[in-house]
Amino acid sequence: MNKPYHVAMTREALGPHFSPTALEQLIEANLGQDSLINQVAHDHFHFDNNSFESGYAYIETCRRKAIEAVRAGQAAQARADFGRLTHSVQDFYSHTNYTALWRELHPNAAPEQIDPLLESCLSDPRLHSARLYYPLEILAFVPPFLPLVAPLLPADSHTHMHKDDPSRPDFDYACSAATQRTRVEWLLLAESLTDAEKAVFTGQPAGQH
Ligand SMILES: [Zn+2]
Repeated sequence: MNKPYHVAMTREALGPHFSPTALEQLIEANLGQDSLINQVAHDHFHFDNNSFESGYAYIETCRRKAIEAVRAGQAAQARADFGRLTHSVQDFYSHTNYTALWRELHPNAAPEQIDPLLESCLSDPRLHSARLYYPLEILAFVPPFLPLVAPLLPADSHTHMHKDDPSRPDFDYACSAATQRTRVEWLLLAESLTDAEKAVFTGQPAGQH
């Protein structure tokens, strides 16, 4: 997903639960996952190249580290860990065919109706993610080259599968699923925290998260 959409989805999902400072720390960590160094050899951060097992394991690790950090009183570290998690779960919907599998079952449903965690889609053997066919695919990121390169790339390439910006089919469904999933991830993490720990993590007084 492109930067402005990661920001907008994270704000929409988590804004009501976190202080402005905490929210900015979450967003900074989320966006940091797309730095150049984190794009190369970090498929699992973005669910690229069918890195499902390592992607799911990374999400678990981020969640565990966030809980450990908040229990150690390290709020900024906890937010960085959770911010990284939000990036991966958001990219899951823009880099896989999850939305296509879900829409196959619900052809008339609106984007806001998408269920981000439908088990039959998650376990569908056809679930796959976009492959990056380097070096050719690099050229596809340069707009003037895209029309020349796109016909040369296979259907499962990032160029043909991604839903990173509004020009792409299913972008609204990917955004809706990613926003909902971000909220679900917060609720899941919050289940492991006491009210006092939640207050540390969110930067909001108890009862406001
Ligand atoms: Zn990414």
